[in-house]
Amino acid sequence: MRKNIVAGNWKMNNDLTQTETLLDDLKTKTKTSNAEVMVAPTFTNLYQANKALESSGIEVVAQNMHFAEKGAYTGEISASMLKSIDVETVILGHSERREYFNETDEMLAKKVDAALANNLRVIFCFGEVLDDRKSGNHENVVGSQIKNALFHLEASAFENIVLAYEPVWAIGTGETASPEQAQDMHAFIRKTLNDKYGNEVADAVSILYGGSVKPGNAQEIFSKPDVDGGLIGGAALNADDFFAIVNAF
Ligand code: 13P
Repeated sequence: MRKNIVAGNWKMNNDLTQTETLLDDLKTKTKTSNAEVMVAPTFTNLYQANKALESSGIEVVAQNMHFAEKGAYTGEISASMLKSIDVETVILGHSERREYFNETDEMLAKKVDAALANNLRVIFCFGEVLDDRKSGNHENVVGSQIKNALFHLEASAFENIVLAYEPVWAIGTGETASPEQAQDMHAFIRKTLNDKYGNEVADAVSILYGGSVKPGNAQEIFSKPDVDGGLIGGAALNADDFFAIVNAF
């Protein structure tokens, strides 16, 4: 049985004080669903957040990392640094990383390798832009993002990979993919995995949807058979909204 997961990507929001307030709010919430819950604060607040959420049942995860182990990479953070503060999971390939920081499939393949070599779990993000959707090229784009960054891996690596389909046109825009559009793409992603690795791998990998998930639309999206949870941006910055989504399963 694959896992249901709801992860909050806080992006570049919340200084230390605001982070502490949100962490305190999260600790007052009760989970009534079977979803695994994660939050991804900024690097400067990861250590603090991990301490604050210890034994809360909420996992603290990172938003990014570099592929090199260490060295002259000013401003970067390595997988082993994340491990050293007990972070066990990292988000890689977010469309904002691809768009604003020029992350390529090739670079992401190296990041995935470095994360897995350090026993980190990866939430691997990908998704098409609006033009690809309009021209009907969305499956090709998503298929090649997955193949280019992940298909050098052995089947067993997928035990530590979660996929997150985030159509770029739905991120922070208030426009969501319809539940049917999400289901169609998730089914395509699972088929793509099935063709390469077989049913056992394809069936076990959790595929999250991200892009304007809110308390009001989460339940319908999560009800689709190939949608195993969500990667939540804006709505994850409010503990009530976030837990309404967590409990939408
Ligand atoms: P929004 O939920 O704000 O659209 O962001 C989605 C996202 O990018 C999560 O990683």
